[in-house]
Amino acid sequence: MDSSDSECLFCKIVAGEVPAVIVREGKRTLAFRDINPQAPTHVLVIPRDHYPDAVTAAREESGIVDEMVAEAHEAAVADGITESGYRLVFNTGAGVGQTVFHVHAHLLGGRGMEWPPG
Ligand code: 5GP
Repeated sequence: MDSSDSECLFCKIVAGEVPAVIVREGKRTLAFRDINPQAPTHVLVIPRDHYPDAVTAAREESGIVDEMVAEAHEAAVADGITESGYRLVFNTGAGVGQTVFHVHAHLLGGRGMEWPPG
């Protein structure tokens, strides 16, 4: 599947129309630093194609969510945060804080965290 949404901010980052600090470029994925980091490491991992959320991506593009998780791990390795641990978050729905409706995994690490999240 090859899809993009001309109104989507993250599709614009994929297209190079909006700048981002890119940390990993996969054939099907892109990882870049969050513009408003909530931890010393805060990277967003996205599929290049547009899907609104993780379950839609998983249903429509075989293996893409696995690849996003693997890419997030490699970004964590590159930032040296695997020993201390990291958190992967898929906000799914406006009610829990999703603001960009192009699926993204938040990779957060480099500081202590509490559970449950707020
Ligand atoms: P959500 O709230 O949808 O789970 O996460 C969206 C994330 O995108 C937020 O953490 C926000 O800071 C980040 N973000 C919003 N606009 C931009 C942008 O233009 N560039 C980058 N790199 N991140 C952005």
